[in-house]
Amino acid sequence: MAEIPTAGGTIDSGALGRTLIHEHVFVISPEVLQNYPEEWDEQTRVRDAIDKLSALKAAGIDTIFDPTVIGLGRYIPRIVEIAQQTEINIVVATGVYTYDSVPKFFRLRGPILGMDLPDPMADMFIRDITQGIADTGIRAAFLKCAIDEEGMTNDVERILRAVAKAHLETGAPVMVHTHPGTKRGLEVHKVLAGMGVDPTKVCLAHSGDTGDVDHLSELADLGYFLGMDRFGVDVYAPFETRVDTVVKLIERGYLAQIGLAHDASCYLDWVEQSMLAMTPNWNYLHISNDVLPEFRNRGVTEEQIDTMLLANPKRWIEG
Ligand SMILES: [Zn+2]
Repeated sequence: MAEIPTAGGTIDSGALGRTLIHEHVFVISPEVLQNYPEEWDEQTRVRDAIDKLSALKAAGIDTIFDPTVIGLGRYIPRIVEIAQQTEINIVVATGVYTYDSVPKFFRLRGPILGMDLPDPMADMFIRDITQGIADTGIRAAFLKCAIDEEGMTNDVERILRAVAKAHLETGAPVMVHTHPGTKRGLEVHKVLAGMGVDPTKVCLAHSGDTGDVDHLSELADLGYFLGMDRFGVDVYAPFETRVDTVVKLIERGYLAQIGLAHDASCYLDWVEQSMLAMTPNWNYLHISNDVLPEFRNRGVTEEQIDTMLLANPKRWIEG
């Protein structure tokens, strides 16, 4: 048992319950929305989030891990407001999300121009984990960064190293957005292993975007926690592939290293809202309504489902 900070206050890890390991509440571009506010009505969006999260709770999910960090529009006061009006636990994160360059804020701070200056990023992450985010009093429970098709750029590596440093200092677990089609998890491993990070503390997000079970087995053998966390994003991998990959990983003995989620959000401003109609399954309820029944059809037991929804997320977030 461990104390886990959430947006609604600290809870015992035993109270996490059934957990989806990667769901956003909002993925937004605050600067754009502030200047072109026609898409964003604060009250409407907050109400909508409360309704969607309450429906998820009613579907049997007790907790979401929300990896919305700098670059994805993190704003914790709004999440606190929502958490106070829904029973679901929202566990928040710290970190920086980019596929290529650091946000301009960081560009000329830290180890630049060959000067041996400390990177302020790690200290910011550590403060979020140990003291709280801004003046909310809400602490981040895990770290998040990303690597995508662009690979290990200098700035992607800089963020990964800052995340690893904050992890080593605080014990907070790490989640890395990856692109398994280009086996970016192996590049992540190279950096993290060199820094002495224990792979069991690291979730490789979006592992379920591939049906390459051999590649995922290689990562699991190294100890990584695999995020089968984009159920409903059928454009990257169809439902059947996502289900089949999980079933095969269980057959190969990796049950204890699988976490489930949708990578969904109540509102995401990265696409025209009408485009979201192309991904009708990309919502918080797809796993409860469609994926778990199909797991059962494929012979996955209730005990195995509990391992993926209860035991595995709990062990990872306990750090
Ligand atoms: Zn995400």
